Amino acid sequence: MPAQGGTKSMSEKKNVWLERHAGSKHGLVFGVIALAAAAAIFSIDTYTKIEGAIAVLYVIVLLLSAEATTRTGLLVATGLCIGLSILSYLLTHGLDPDLQTALRLTVALAALCVTAALLLRNDRARTNILMTNAALRESERRYRSIFDMTRVALWERDYSRVRAYIVGLKEEGVTDLRDYIRTHPEVIPQCIAMIGVVAANDAAVDLLGRRAGSNSPGVMSHFISPANEAFLDVLQAIFDGASFFEGMAEITAEAGETKLVLLSISFPDDPAAFNRVVVSMVDITQREQARKALVEAQAELTRAARAATVGVMSASLAHELNQPLGAIVVNSQTLLRWLDRDPPDLAAARRSAERMIRDSQRASSIIHNTRSLLSQSQEGIEQVDLSALVRDTLALMEHELEKERTTVEIVQIARVPSISSVKIEMQQVMINLIANAVQAMSAARSENRRITIALDAADNAKVVAITVRDTGPGLSADTLEKLFFPFYTTKESGMGMGLSICRSTIEARGGSLVGSNHPEGGAVFEIRLPVEVANA
Ligand code: ADP
Repeated sequence: MPAQGGTKSMSEKKNVWLERHAGSKHGLVFGVIALAAAAAIFSIDTYTKIEGAIAVLYVIVLLLSAEATTRTGLLVATGLCIGLSILSYLLTHGLDPDLQTALRLTVALAALCVTAALLLRNDRARTNILMTNAALRESERRYRSIFDMTRVALWERDYSRVRAYIVGLKEEGVTDLRDYIRTHPEVIPQCIAMIGVVAANDAAVDLLGRRAGSNSPGVMSHFISPANEAFLDVLQAIFDGASFFEGMAEITAEAGETKLVLLSISFPDDPAAFNRVVVSMVDITQREQARKALVEAQAELTRAARAATVGVMSASLAHELNQPLGAIVVNSQTLLRWLDRDPPDLAAARRSAERMIRDSQRASSIIHNTRSLLSQSQEGIEQVDLSALVRDTLALMEHELEKERTTVEIVQIARVPSISSVKIEMQQVMINLIANAVQAMSAARSENRRITIALDAADNAKVVAITVRDTGPGLSADTLEKLFFPFYTTKESGMGMGLSICRSTIEARGGSLVGSNHPEGGAVFEIRLPVEVANA
């Protein structure tokens, strides 16, 4: 945009001129003296009989005018001096001009022209110098205001001595600076002491304290510890002749606290400019602290999750083992009774012992299965015939069912296909649902204690549905809401883990488990399972 450029240079020139003539008193004095000198020279040249090139003295007028006026003013003054010289000549020699006086006039006029030309050239050169100076000052002013106002901490440092020292090492034949420093550790503190502080902006002072702005010798040793790895990297960058350095560095603030900053240094191309190297610092102490806290929190969470898993596993084991262990105790008591008979009923004792073996094997399978369930393992998946599984489960619970005077009816609504599942898992789910039904009816002292287990197929035999319905008190609104929450129980000696385990077992195999109240009373739980194992 030339117009703008033009306007700018015009105004710059104006400023320069104003600056040159700053204190117009100075210009006025020179102007008055110039006018007085011109009048005096004219009088001497016109009214005295002195024979000589008096008009040459107008040069003095031009020299004085140059101090008082602009280029145009100087041209006007030159024209005036030439005019006065000619006028004076005409007044004194107008009627009989001779060669000598004409030559004197010519010499004087030539002197005036040459002086004016030199003054104009000189003026242009001076104006250029002043404009350059003004531009430099403006740029320095702008730089200063950016330096002072920015919220990034800026630190102007003098690296000239450090650079000279490092270049000196290179010239002495050092090729590996780090290696050299390893054998000469004193180099680091020496280099730190060589750095001078030129200036620090407000943000740097806020970050590091007032001393950051001090340019007393060796001040940097308060901020940079000799053990600082980043400082070694900075020295290496100077050694390599790099144009910049960026990295994280620890800086000790005046108050003694360590600040972590993102350091950025631009090294100048000109070695002479190493006396003013700008170092920018962004305080990342809090960000780093927050990051560390997050990492610690995550580690803590992982530990807590592991502890919770262990907790769930032990709670689950305790809950699931309760039933087979209880059965083993009952069967061993029965076995003892058969043996105590006279004569001992060995056949019956044998049956009890076999039941004990079966229950112990089940306890062992439960432990194994809980482990594989927690690790989401697919181990032990087989084709499970649900009708057979339900019958086996009832056989396992016959003692409990008998004790609580509960009858169980199996209703086969449709022929159900075998499902891919882990048998012991499904058995545990059924045991939990049946045991809950028995306990609910027993606690409510229900007259008619009946459990109906219905097997059905849905969705073109792709899904099987098993419902377990009882004739107990049903589920209260509160229970319905929290039924599957771990550790939710309404029983005095309950753990509140059974249904939560059942649901996660069924869901792990791609199915669902819901609980509700039957319209005719009692609770009903429905399991839906895909025939093919979901995540096989
Ligand atoms: P627990 O049997 O240890 O209490 P569960 O998770 O198996 O744990 O059951 C949670 C709660 O759900 C039980 O305490 C009970 O209040 C309720 N509940 C479960 N099944 C039935 C049911 N068939 N009838 C009535 N309430 C039930």
